[in-house]
Amino acid sequence: MPETAAAAPDIVHCQGERFRLYLSEEEIQTRIRALGEQIATDYADLGVPILIGVLNGAFIFTADLMRAIPGDSEVDFYKLSSYGERKVSSGQVTELKDIDAKLEGRHVIVVEDIVDTGLSMKYVIDQITARNPASLRAATLLRKPDAAKVEVSVDYVGFDIDNLFVIGYGLDYGQLARNLRAIYILDEESEEEASA
Ligand code: 5GP
Repeated sequence: MPETAAAAPDIVHCQGERFRLYLSEEEIQTRIRALGEQIATDYADLGVPILIGVLNGAFIFTADLMRAIPGDSEVDFYKLSSYGERKVSSGQVTELKDIDAKLEGRHVIVVEDIVDTGLSMKYVIDQITARNPASLRAATLLRKPDAAKVEVSVDYVGFDIDNLFVIGYGLDYGQLARNLRAIYILDEESEEEASA
C-alpha cells in the first residue's frame, strides 16, 4: 500500500450510522488477483473477454479486476438505478445507461459489485443474452446467499457474505462511502443500542 494511503479504520460512520470493518483492503485485493488469474486461464483458448461493469457500484471492482487479468480484455459499462438513500433492495431495476459496445459474438463477463436479491444480475444477464454474445459469464465481488429472490448463476464470486448492508469499495450509502478501500458492514449492535 502506498505510504500516502490512509490505513482502513476499524469503524466508520456514514449517514449517522456505524459500520465495522468486514473485508480488509488486502483480503479484497488478494481475492481479486485470484479471480483475475482464473479468468485469464478460462479465456486463454476462448478469446478476448469484454467486461461489462454495472454502474455505479462496480466501477472500482471492474477496474481492479481488469488489471488483475493478465493479457487482453476490453471494458464497457451498463448503468442501473441504485438503492438511493435506502438499505433494502426496492426490487425495481431501472436502466439508466445502455452498453455502447456491440456484444454479438463477443465473450462477455458481467461484473457486479454485489448480488443481493439477484434481480439486477438477472436483468443484466437477460438483456445481454438477447444480444447474442458468443459466451456470457458473471462475476461479482460480493454475494448474499440468504437474500436471493431469484436464482442466478454467478461464475466468479469474490466472497459470500452475511445478509447485512455493506458499504465501501464502490458500494454506497446515499452516494457516500464509495471511496473506502475496504468493505464495512452495518454494526447491528450499535443499531440495537440506539433503539433500546
Ligand atoms: P439486487 O438486485 O441483487 O437486489 O441488488 C443489486 C444492487 O443493489 C447492487 O448492484 C448494489 O448497487 C445494491 N446493493 C445490494 N446490496 C447492497 C448492500 O449491502 N450495500 C450497498 N451499498 N448496495 C447494495
